[in-house]
Amino acid sequence: MTTGILYIVATPIGNLNDITLRAIDVLKQVDVVAAEDTRHSKKLLDHYGIETRLMAVHDHNEDDRIQSLLTKLQGGSSVALISDAGTPLISDPGFRIVRAMQHSGVEVVSIPGPCAAIAALSIAGLPTDRFLFVGFLPAKQKARQAVLEALLSEQGTLVFYESPKRIVAAVEDVAAVMGEGRMVSVAKEITKAFETVKTGLVYEVLEWLQDDEHHRRGEFVLLVQGAAESAGVEIDPSALRALGLASEYMPLKKACGLVSELTGLPKNALYEAALAQNKG
Ligand code: SAM
Repeated sequence: MTTGILYIVATPIGNLNDITLRAIDVLKQVDVVAAEDTRHSKKLLDHYGIETRLMAVHDHNEDDRIQSLLTKLQGGSSVALISDAGTPLISDPGFRIVRAMQHSGVEVVSIPGPCAAIAALSIAGLPTDRFLFVGFLPAKQKARQAVLEALLSEQGTLVFYESPKRIVAAVEDVAAVMGEGRMVSVAKEITKAFETVKTGLVYEVLEWLQDDEHHRRGEFVLLVQGAAESAGVEIDPSALRALGLASEYMPLKKACGLVSELTGLPKNALYEAALAQNKG
């Protein structure tokens, strides 16, 4: 008997239309859809008229399910693994299942699609040539700051998932641990009615979050510029003098914006240079 295939299927992260034709075909054709929350996923399947049987596979029973999935697959049934939203295994269950199936010689096939981290990177306006996906930061401040400290010298853009309850605290900790000169971006409610992306210096994004309680609601991806971007920028003495002069007439943030417009130098690099000069 031929062994069945385990499909890892990405599903929408908000907008139900964000599903591939191939994903719909696979979800219709497999024998079982293994889902994190069967009630939640039933809505998606109903929306597309998919009648495949659902079984629950979540963080708490992932190990127990491995044997029953393996029996099904070795018996020739095919299985699709989905999560509540986006790409399974990305801050979602599935890793232990995929590893176990591969070790047992079961073919694992990807049906790619939405992923909040990748969608956020595509709209944040921060460098994407190199990035590090970190997932959820710890809920407690001390542990969160320790994670950020460990990432201080990482040069790629950092990508975090964050809950609305902790988004302000997380951005505050980025400022406290990584300094005020970094560009950050919050991408919220991606693909949904209130999709918003706010990118700026860390204090600008913090102000924006604090400004309006609507800005703090919803699902968030937090992105932080890596260590390399501003470290490599040379601020010549004439730009620094212009910054000093401008800041006599306007707040430093505005002065950085103005000098950035005039010189083409990155605003965050100017801000960091001004802070360093003030300290000096
Ligand atoms: N597997 C999913 C993926 O591929 O993106 C992520 C699952 S993780 C449990 C859920 C977190 O992803 C949310 O708390 C939020 O940080 C982020 N997220 C999911 N959907 C989002 C959306 N539409 N907009 C912004 N962030 C989202």
